[in-house]
Amino acid sequence: MNKVLIVFTGGTIAMTIDEDLGAAVPGLDGNAILSMIKGIDRYGEIEIVDFGQFPGPQMNPGRILELAKLLKESLARDDIQGAIITHGTDTLEETAYFLDLYLTTEKPVVVVGAMRNASELGYDGPANLASAIVAVKSPESYGRGVLVVLNNQVNSAREVTKTHTMSLDTFKSLEFGPLGIVDNNEVLYSRQAMPHSHLVPDDIEPAVHLLKSYVGMDRFMIDQLVDNGTKGIVIEAMGRGNLPPELVPAIKDAITRDVAVVIVSRCPAGRVLGSYGYDGGGQQLRELGAMFGTAMNGQKTRIQLMLALKVAQSNHQLRHIMENEDFDVAP
Ligand code: ASP
Repeated sequence: MNKVLIVFTGGTIAMTIDEDLGAAVPGLDGNAILSMIKGIDRYGEIEIVDFGQFPGPQMNPGRILELAKLLKESLARDDIQGAIITHGTDTLEETAYFLDLYLTTEKPVVVVGAMRNASELGYDGPANLASAIVAVKSPESYGRGVLVVLNNQVNSAREVTKTHTMSLDTFKSLEFGPLGIVDNNEVLYSRQAMPHSHLVPDDIEPAVHLLKSYVGMDRFMIDQLVDNGTKGIVIEAMGRGNLPPELVPAIKDAITRDVAVVIVSRCPAGRVLGSYGYDGGGQQLRELGAMFGTAMNGQKTRIQLMLALKVAQSNHQLRHIMENEDFDVAP
């Protein structure tokens, strides 16, 4: 059991500059990327799957579920020690968190990408992939959930987010910092990840949408979603979880029509709570039946809701899943 599976899905790590377009496009398969890492033979056997060459924005929940099922099957094999997934950084955190929810294995699973393509000076793909191999091979990486490795840092899929459009130091766990670093071909962990729980449905609910609040927001977008059959809406509310008063009747109508409404914050860090009692305040939204998510951002909470809607047997259970860090514990 010492084979590492690497599933290549695309992203900048697999791109080069097209001279005619003057812009980066997909072009490198798994072997081409791996051939740029020096001394890789020292790390034992590697099995490659060329899953696709999708830029991050071309991934979608259906493809992510397909990837998750492939990984579940492969990680059940005795000869596979752990898995690495290369991915476009734009949506990397969503795929990584999906896998974190879906895969129940203790074996290490690491998602990796690059911020500079293979035609650019300072292409960071080989260095990041080498760090991912070090992380997946480390006995210390067992049972930590899905990890994200870039720029020599190891973060938890549940906690990490892309924070900068072009910096190599873009993936951050804003609340508590990285779990560890890769230093001298070794992972040095300095803390545990937050508790993480699992959701393993056969399929996902696709009709789940994400809205960001803004000053003076009216009910137009919520009504559009509800009238068009949405099953769930995640709203990035303001601060501690508050919204303009005009949205209160819209949320009430949505919940009456059996739409799951989950409140998170548009702030980059911190959890939401029903602390405010004014019109549109969090306390009122909770009383209407809106669920209050964890400190996770909107895009990952949406992924959680897509899976949770297929797993939960009741509204009570759905609320338990969406509102708790550790929802494997009984409600
Ligand atoms: N736009 C690219 C993508 O997500 C960015 C990257 O991979 O770094 O495919």
